[in-house]
Amino acid sequence: MPKWSNWSGRLQSKPDRYQQIYSEQQAAALTAHCNQNGTTLRAVGAGHSHQDLVGNDGVIVDLVGLAGVISADSGSAWVWGGSHIHTLGLALQQHGLALPNQGDIDRQTITGATATGTHGTGAALSNLSSRVIGAQIALADGRLVTCTATSDDPMERELWQASRLHLGAFGIVTRLQLALVQSYRLREQSWQAPLLDTLDNLSTLVDENRHCEFFWYPHTDTAQVKVINPTNDDPSYPLADEGDRCGWNFEVLPNHRPLLHTEMEYSVPADRGPECMRAIREVLEQKFPEVRWPVEYRTLAADDVWLSTAYERPTVTISVHQAVDEPDEPYYRACEEIFLEFEGKPHWGKVNYLSGEQLAAMHLRWGDWWRVRDAVDPNGIFLNPYLQRIRP
Ligand SMILES: Cc1cc2nc3c(=O)[nH]c(=O)nc-3n(C[C@H](O)[C@H](O)[C@H](O)COP(=O)(O)OP(=O)(O)OC[C@H]3O[C@@H](n4cnc5c(N)ncnc54)[C@H](O)[C@@H]3O)c2cc1C
Repeated sequence: MPKWSNWSGRLQSKPDRYQQIYSEQQAAALTAHCNQNGTTLRAVGAGHSHQDLVGNDGVIVDLVGLAGVISADSGSAWVWGGSHIHTLGLALQQHGLALPNQGDIDRQTITGATATGTHGTGAALSNLSSRVIGAQIALADGRLVTCTATSDDPMERELWQASRLHLGAFGIVTRLQLALVQSYRLREQSWQAPLLDTLDNLSTLVDENRHCEFFWYPHTDTAQVKVINPTNDDPSYPLADEGDRCGWNFEVLPNHRPLLHTEMEYSVPADRGPECMRAIREVLEQKFPEVRWPVEYRTLAADDVWLSTAYERPTVTISVHQAVDEPDEPYYRACEEIFLEFEGKPHWGKVNYLSGEQLAAMHLRWGDWWRVRDAVDPNGIFLNPYLQRIRP
């Protein structure tokens, strides 16, 4: 029996079958076959989620053969669903294009990243799901459907809207169309500053820099602040690891994060971010002297993606981490209590302990998302135990 585990090794699963996919026809035939047999089917990206979005006892599908840029015009591109983000930077640049932003690492696949609302930092920059303007999906009935923001058919437009942040629950996403910007260069700077001063000056830092974030090291006064801004300077090679570097967007934005960990992240309203950060600091100082992993603070623009944690709300994201072999639940539960006091919404790809009812109460379009999803997968073959647990 095949075994699957996620990046950190914390989540494991024994599906009946692990299937590599090399063509859309193969994807469509597999979905139809599973639908006929009532077999659960979940696609996997790079396995970088900390939430059990992939594990199931049926089939795990890996789009290994569907990678790369398919076509591009002046402001958008169709890419294969199995493309890892780190392979897209140069390929898009060859068309003069770039993602406006990306996360802290680039190991994820583009479909895995958009599945969970993966984001970087920048008060005017929204998450990757918001860049999805079209998708091709192998649905449960074996049809390959293209749905875009401009589809004539209202049902296809709704399918596009709902599946921008899809949690792997609509079908196998074989292609994505992304709204992009012109290729650009960035300069990154980083320094240390006292945490409380950083929080006091944060609105200026956030307003004056395209990207701004900081990591706070628990039980110290120190924050590592990072800002990144567009530049016309030539890239400076060899690129420094992190902190003071200048290069193309896809060279500067991602980092190397080899240390295995787990993570909880909540999005809170932007104006409550500093206060929430102070409350998280307080709980760490008072109750968790053993935790050494940093707390990360980022900003995220509002969007119109149904299940986005930034849906119609300018956002601050705060992430807490723990080593994969250290106990994390008491710490995360204490943080979650605080995040909820600040109207927080959990990152879909990271740890949370919420029920379906709690998630429904915080996502205005929860019912719509499930209605559209259930219409294309009435037998629920794309629902794994986690999604079954939270479904209405
Ligand atoms: C070290 C590290 C750093 C991270 N940094 C950030 C960050 O900076 N910002 C941030 O927001 N998040 C971050 N994350 C979280 C991560 O971006 C998300 O969990 C993301 O969803 C992982 O993408 P993946 O390709 O690994 O997808 P997986 O975890 O493999 O899958 C995620 C979801 O996508 C679905 N899926 C994948 N491919 C398909 C497909 N072709 N068709 C249908 N469904 C599919 C899966 O079924 C699942 O539901 C980080 C995670 C780690 C481990």
